[in-house]
Amino acid sequence: MRTSACSIDMVPHVKKSPESIVIFSKRLGLAALCICALLSLTAAESPPLQIGSPLDSLKTTELHDSFNEIHHGHRHEAIDIMRPRGTPIRAVTDGVIRKVFISRGGGLTVYQFDREGLYCYYYAHLDRYPDELHEGLAVARGDVIGYVGTTGDAAPDAPQLHFAIFKLGPDKSWWKGEAINPYPILMRAENDQSARK
Ligand SMILES: [Zn+2]
Repeated sequence: MRTSACSIDMVPHVKKSPESIVIFSKRLGLAALCICALLSLTAAESPPLQIGSPLDSLKTTELHDSFNEIHHGHRHEAIDIMRPRGTPIRAVTDGVIRKVFISRGGGLTVYQFDREGLYCYYYAHLDRYPDELHEGLAVARGDVIGYVGTTGDAAPDAPQLHFAIFKLGPDKSWWKGEAINPYPILMRAENDQSARK
């Protein structure tokens, strides 16, 4: 009977000692761990949001990071920019007006989704809306979506834009999402703009 040399050669490779199997599976686990760590790192380092300015001729000196401050008993999770009453507020990106809503705290507000429906931009304390504004309206970056005011819980003598950014969840609900600090995003946008001038 002829025995295949190949099958004999294979035996030492196939037969693994329990120790080597343990080491192998440990290595496999470590490799999986490394891949997971790498993936989460890439997710955290996704490209920064590129948005326009919600107000004309905005300066970095007008921006103050109040994201983590407690306002009216809640983490602020937004930025306030002081401007005279009636100053036009502009859409920071192309997208759609998802919700026009009047709330106790925010007063006259607008929730705008980006084109991809990944982020929601929230503008509050508006004095009024442009006549043509309605839910479902497609807007381009720079379109006027409201005017600075003091509606809601803003002090009557301190007209301001309360601006927030939310990363939307899979259900794309306008009222919920993960709050993202607009301060570094607007700082970068203003710095980039002044560098181009
Ligand atoms: Zn605010």
